[in-house]
Amino acid sequence: MVSTGARGEVDIGVRDGRIAQLGGAMSGARELDVRGLLVTPGGVDPHVHLTPPTRAAGGWRWVDDFESGTRAALAGGVTTVGNISFPERGETLADAIRHDDAQAARLSLADYFLHPVLMEPDADNLACLAPLHKAGHTSVKIFLSFKRFDRKVSEYLEALREVRAAGGIALVHCEDAAIIDCCCTLLRERGDTAPRFYPEARPVQAEVVATQRAVGFAETTGCPTYVVHLASARALEACHDGRARGIPVYVETRPLYLHLSRERFEDPDGAKYAGAPPLREPVDVDAMWAGLGFGGIDVLATDHAPWMLADKLDPAQTAMELRQGVADLETCLPMLFSAGVRRGRLSLEQFVAVTSTNPAKLFGLYPRKGTVAVGADADLVVGDPEETRTIDGASMHSRSDFSPYDGWEVTGWPRYTIRRGEVVAEGAEVLAPAGSGVLAPRGPHRPI
Ligand SMILES: [Zn+2]
Repeated sequence: MVSTGARGEVDIGVRDGRIAQLGGAMSGARELDVRGLLVTPGGVDPHVHLTPPTRAAGGWRWVDDFESGTRAALAGGVTTVGNISFPERGETLADAIRHDDAQAARLSLADYFLHPVLMEPDADNLACLAPLHKAGHTSVKIFLSFKRFDRKVSEYLEALREVRAAGGIALVHCEDAAIIDCCCTLLRERGDTAPRFYPEARPVQAEVVATQRAVGFAETTGCPTYVVHLASARALEACHDGRARGIPVYVETRPLYLHLSRERFEDPDGAKYAGAPPLREPVDVDAMWAGLGFGGIDVLATDHAPWMLADKLDPAQTAMELRQGVADLETCLPMLFSAGVRRGRLSLEQFVAVTSTNPAKLFGLYPRKGTVAVGADADLVVGDPEETRTIDGASMHSRSDFSPYDGWEVTGWPRYTIRRGEVVAEGAEVLAPAGSGVLAPRGPHRPI
């Protein structure tokens, strides 16, 4: 067993969904013999999109809902997910929480929590922040990549002050809207609108400028700030500088930026790799791995936002509007184990920190989630560090029909996934019924 500050061979006793005993004599109704396997805390993925937003801003049509998405999560060792919840036009943050909570309660197999998106920093929404935080929704998502952000920066800063006062944390998408807009105009003028120009439509300077602003906003308002899906060495440096000065900035990256780099966009089907930001250079990939190793990157989250391959490759698309996102909930932890722990880039303790303990702390779930300790929820992954599978997205649990890693050999897969004491997946077979996941109780954000 490997957990926060603990490693050893130990029996784990579970009662009423929680860890009741570590070591010593015990007996129970069911025993799992997991000798030779690796037990770690269940994955906490704080950044997923499982409310298909026919209604959401942009009308994105991601193909997973809470049922199919969390089925993939459990098969991949993730027992808790944090969903990005968009209000419909005219709705408040509280409305967004209400309808997404209703969907998740009906459909989710994993435990879940919700981040409402602050689309309009108006009085009604600002008034929602304190009551939502009191009810355990201690985070808010903000997009610097939407043009509306630049029209209302002062109001957004007011919102960040409110989030801080309420004991919460802001998730921030860091790409600069004006720079992206200008780059798209330049590409159109040149006639370079094919999908392979996607990295030029959203270049690294757009990420760096927005990240620097987010750090500056955190410095000004004191609001704990979580930079989602950071992709470049230069943006990481901006966060590192801020942290060195004591500013409460935290960093997430995602699997795309660990396993793939920009030249993929030259492939005839390169559009299938599109996320925002785009894939970066090999030197950025190295920086992401280094960041996970030295602690400059706190969390690995999927940003799971899957499409069907035909939609990703729709020839009507230009570089300016590629469909963003891929399925990653089932592959995230095994691939980090395979390419990180097995190859000696990360220790098991670092693996546990970035996939479970750190996100649990930042989003107020710790110590119920994110650790193997007496009193914690019995969310456990029993992994077989030697099992090798070849990735085939079409046969996995997401409704997406491909994985960006199709054909890759990955070693180290969950043998059992246990959620609140129940075996909810065995090998690739998921046993939990829809609606068995619950809204995870949250306290205030905790620094790492
Ligand atoms: Zn996202």
